Amino acid sequence: MLLRLYQNQKSHHHHHDHVNKTSSSSSSTTTTTLGKQSTTLETKSKTGKLTTPEEDLYSIQSESSGNGSYVSHIEHLAGPILFSAPHGLQVYRGGEESQDSERVHSKELYTNEICLLLSLKIKKYLGIEASFVIWNPKTAKPKDKSNLDPNYLVASQFMSSPFHRFLHKLKKQYDGFPTLHVDIHGKINRKADRNIDIGIAPMMALWKDQKLAEKVKKDFCDRMQKAVSTCKKKYSGFKLTIDRDPYLSGYWGDNTVTTISHQSILLGMPGLQLEIPMDVRKDLMTNDDLVEQLAKAIAESYKTSVTSIFSKEWKEVEAKLDAVKTELLSHEQTKHNSKTFDSMISQMISEFEIIETSQKGKKI
Ligand SMILES: [Zn+2]
Repeated sequence: MLLRLYQNQKSHHHHHDHVNKTSSSSSSTTTTTLGKQSTTLETKSKTGKLTTPEEDLYSIQSESSGNGSYVSHIEHLAGPILFSAPHGLQVYRGGEESQDSERVHSKELYTNEICLLLSLKIKKYLGIEASFVIWNPKTAKPKDKSNLDPNYLVASQFMSSPFHRFLHKLKKQYDGFPTLHVDIHGKINRKADRNIDIGIAPMMALWKDQKLAEKVKKDFCDRMQKAVSTCKKKYSGFKLTIDRDPYLSGYWGDNTVTTISHQSILLGMPGLQLEIPMDVRKDLMTNDDLVEQLAKAIAESYKTSVTSIFSKEWKEVEAKLDAVKTELLSHEQTKHNSKTFDSMISQMISEFEIIETSQKGKKI
């Protein structure tokens, strides 16, 4: 049901720099207060109205600036698999700190939603949903230069990025136990293929035991290969395939800017990035089978090769996951409560769609 939400979606994303306003007569106008600014959003009445950050299940109140202020990202600490979408919002990279020119990175459509759908599906295979960290399109100030690109940070910027700080929280939660970070990106539809690029170069370059890194890479890629081969769909005539050694490798080198999967490697956590073509991302919004196959491949890699390089038996890891689950259930929080996880995901996906149609700027 959740997966059907996107089926009748209008294709606003091809329009750069403006929002297609030729909506049908069923559209209505919803006004919502986002922090101190007021934004008018065009929505279809069918998709319902947007809740406020106070009443939704996911927006996180700022601890430092106190009452009524919400942070620009959403973090969900749960299972040992982590999904992130650092480009789910228009972000800024470069500038003084990295002695580089300042540049804008466009929003990569559907990458937030793909994290959420995979996180939900992982629950079926690990008994606990995946953790995730994404931007909050409802509370993040659009076109704010303080929205640092989490995928392009020099070491001195690490702790000012909420995405990087979340990596530390995950590491703390699973101290000594295996984790697996899968960072989700979007690329354009290429002319010659519909590859999902598996960028794992930071792990290959920096993991202390190269043989073990190679083992994880091979296992992960083999399982992804199997997953995409179950997809009988053609995308503009192309079958869905994977690229094990892509140009978009996630690695810029040592002692320079780091991608977020590189940052995970620096913390001793296996990580990689997936670059997904535009029309495959769009398809994933409604292709439950494909989401399932990808989630299964990721979960099985975690349970086998990733667990083995931490010198753990699956039984020990399973006991740890049970302990974390019990701990999470004991928290009586109203937001990011594991009991209401499924409704939270459903609410996020439907609200993100409403917000998306109102957002301007280049999207890829
Ligand atoms: Zn990206």
